[in-house]
Amino acid sequence: METGAAERERAQQNARHEAGRLRAEGIRGIALTWVDNAGITRTKTVPTSRLAHAARWGVGMSPVFDVYTVDDSITTSRHIGGPCGDLRLFPDLERLTALAGQPGWAWAPVDRYTQRGEPYPACQRLFARRQTERALALGLEPRMGFETEWTVLRRDAPKPGSGEPGEPGESEEDAWETRYPDRGPAYGMARVVALSDYLGDVLGALLDQHVDVLQLHPEYSPGQFEVSTAPSDPVGAADLAVLVRETVRAVSARHGLAASFAPVVEVGRVGNGGHLHLSLWREERNLCRGGEGPFGMTADCQAFLAGVLRELPALLAVGAPSPVSHLRLEPSRWAGVFRCWGLENREAALRFITGAPGDPGGANAEVKCFDAAANPYLVTGCVIAAGLAGIADRLTLPEPVSGDPAERGDQPRLPTSAAEALERFERSGVLREAMGDPLFEAFAAVRRAEIELFASAAPQDAADAVRGRY
Ligand code: GLU
Ligand code: MG
Repeated sequence: METGAAERERAQQNARHEAGRLRAEGIRGIALTWVDNAGITRTKTVPTSRLAHAARWGVGMSPVFDVYTVDDSITTSRHIGGPCGDLRLFPDLERLTALAGQPGWAWAPVDRYTQRGEPYPACQRLFARRQTERALALGLEPRMGFETEWTVLRRDAPKPGSGEPGEPGESEEDAWETRYPDRGPAYGMARVVALSDYLGDVLGALLDQHVDVLQLHPEYSPGQFEVSTAPSDPVGAADLAVLVRETVRAVSARHGLAASFAPVVEVGRVGNGGHLHLSLWREERNLCRGGEGPFGMTADCQAFLAGVLRELPALLAVGAPSPVSHLRLEPSRWAGVFRCWGLENREAALRFITGAPGDPGGANAEVKCFDAAANPYLVTGCVIAAGLAGIADRLTLPEPVSGDPAERGDQPRLPTSAAEALERFERSGVLREAMGDPLFEAFAAVRRAEIELFASAAPQDAADAVRGRY
């Protein structure tokens, strides 16, 4: 986003025009969102008539949200914390979208600036943009896309284990079963039939918002579904992750359902991932294919992926940040808990996909260990930083792994706790340098506070505590 007064005035003009169009469509308010270091999407809304003012002068918001935790308690860090200070939120008008699941509302993500009009050093979205620009300066264009998995639950059903009245004589297991509006087979068509209107409305709302949906399907666990969207620039991919999630949430609410994007809803079952797909392009050529490296990768693609693989233990703190993330990260659940890569291997943290031979966009890599507790802007920015470090160091990939690493027993696990991942994160020079101290330390402080928050919680209690948060 441009920052000078002239650019702001142009944005104001543009916003006036957009606001007129939105008002004519019956849009009364605009939700301006950003995602904090706890992975929570926070918002200030403005009436449509104030959009132009927001585009010119920004909307105020405290920087203390950078040290908020998932339960809305507040920690502190070396550079950020305390009640003083203010920031300006500037909507990105290019993303302004009328929300099909929330009639009367539109949405735009924001970049955060200081009161003096400088880029706020801890703004996660500006961080993702800065990393993208570093890649572009090398002639490399990263394209990314998030998968969104979620679990739908009946909103009015009793909470399992809560002692709230369910059916007389109902066991805890039965209580869970009655919470899911759909209990058909994994990937079963019967589930699309059972929730036909709901899923049709999810798809319809996304399409009405011009989201380029690739797939919508039932997943493994009861009530679990997934939407995937076409790749775009990294900041755009993170924006889309927010838009898709809020759209699913809104449509679910209109159907009397609650959508949970938490890594795990019912402990012991397959959880919700937030896999990141990525490819690297140079002058409209996909560097994941047509090269001399493994499975046709070019040297740049290989070095980038090797950089991601090298940094993956630290990246896990960013991409699967919550202690609850580690309740999902179990072997043999397609959550990619082994630090290795493989061709089409759904148990490797890094899955390489060649796609159909003639499809230029088909080849890409998927980071499987991530989930939606992550801030998608931090994910895209940190993955680019790790990949670029791999290119700078001319890394190559180790041998690919085929088969289930859990059965082979020869591959290292990624960190198995949030504390171990945080320790790796704090030792990562690559991520510290890319993020800069204020963002790096505020993020680490939030991780530390959440580890403490759940230190003595029983697994299901921790999962329940975050179920409706992300
Ligand atoms: N739900 C699985 C996860 O936790 C992923 C299933 C899939 O590969 O789509 O990541
Ligand atoms: Mg999936």
